[in-house]
Amino acid sequence: MDRNDELFDRARRVIPGGVNSPVRAYGSVGGTPRFLASARGAYVTDAAGQEYVDLVATWGPALLGHAHPDVVAAVQAAAAQGLSFGAPTEGEVRLASLIAERVQAGGLAPIEEVRLVSTGTEATMTAIRLARGVTGRDLLVKFDGNYHGHSDGLLAAAGSGVATLALPGTAGVPASVAASTLVVPYGDLDAVREVFAAHGERIAGIIVEAAPANMGVIEPPAGFNAALAEIAHDAGSLLIVDEVLTGFRVHPAGEWGREVEAGHPYEPDIITFGKVVGGGMPLAALGGKRAVMEQLAPTGPVYQAGTLSGNPLSVAAGLATLERATPEVYAHLDRAADQVTTALSAALAAEGVAHAIPRVGSLFGLVFRDSKPADYTSAKQQDAHRFTPFFHAMLDAGVHLPPSVFEAWFVTAAHDDEALGRIVEALPAASRAAARA
Ligand code: PMP
Repeated sequence: MDRNDELFDRARRVIPGGVNSPVRAYGSVGGTPRFLASARGAYVTDAAGQEYVDLVATWGPALLGHAHPDVVAAVQAAAAQGLSFGAPTEGEVRLASLIAERVQAGGLAPIEEVRLVSTGTEATMTAIRLARGVTGRDLLVKFDGNYHGHSDGLLAAAGSGVATLALPGTAGVPASVAASTLVVPYGDLDAVREVFAAHGERIAGIIVEAAPANMGVIEPPAGFNAALAEIAHDAGSLLIVDEVLTGFRVHPAGEWGREVEAGHPYEPDIITFGKVVGGGMPLAALGGKRAVMEQLAPTGPVYQAGTLSGNPLSVAAGLATLERATPEVYAHLDRAADQVTTALSAALAAEGVAHAIPRVGSLFGLVFRDSKPADYTSAKQQDAHRFTPFFHAMLDAGVHLPPSVFEAWFVTAAHDDEALGRIVEALPAASRAAARA
């Protein structure tokens, strides 16, 4: 029994399941979750002193690598000035401006105003309330397997931990709340049009993951999000693009920016951000055109608030991270993803394991089927049991992967040749283990 086992035993006595967020519990892969003691660059170290190359990156935020010295220094400097004020600060103004400036492409600038919140869940929850407030309508269209956080109306057919645990939804959500969410298969524009034909005048908005990454990674069909914008706008509804995971990760202007540059321009009404925008501290955001955003209190009737919103330490981490997320950083992430995906595919092919590696920018996932999935139904049609031995072989070789086949893998700017080399070396044995399963 090592230190991780001891801690997990103690944790389970005082914390439900021993974890503060379900997918951390290794529910689908089994075994003892690693209790992390520190994280630096591309590496994490567990409570037993074992070091791993990390491909979780705290589920996305660590774009520059863990504990980047400039980000840590910025947080320390902010802490010395006071931990929280509950009053406006200069840093918030700088961060909101930086977000609006960065999210521009092809002559489009969808963000004029930004509201800072503390979690991605809050950002999407507020975005939906705002869409309902602006339109005076109740219904929301979401996609099967898209995850937008754990607020009541959004846990109908969500991915991420819900996908892993194969729950249909969750207990504790009133049927009346779930009934105002219309769930449509991802990628199916005809289904979206049908829902609008039937209920169009009651639909406040569509919410979509800019690129789905919570049922594994799914590459959005070319022009899909642009078509959603058109359908929503024709019906007087809003399009909410959830970039909590993809924002500032897959491209300097998020997945929206990547698509505009690829020749599929569209104007989302609200974009939500989280993860990278807070540089590893609790911070998330929503942004949009002034006419929409000013419907939020205090200028408008849609209420939203937060004691710790725009927390000065989080803002400092977000600013320090975004200021350093240069084109060179994105080029490095892409190269690191190239190296890992090429080696991963070669190792699995050498063992005759059917697989596909869907990829969006530097974000990618592994599926044990011979073609990339298009939606949640096809994402679930894979030899998922192969992931358990694969995951544990990687862990034994010192590589920390997300503990579920339905999660994306995250590289960082700190994944240098040595870190990438350690991942590549671990792949053949893990692929053999997957082949035997
Ligand atoms: N939206 C998306 C697309 C996400 O991936 C997540 C979290 N993984 C959320 C929303 C919720 O964010 P948070 O966990 O910060 O509440």
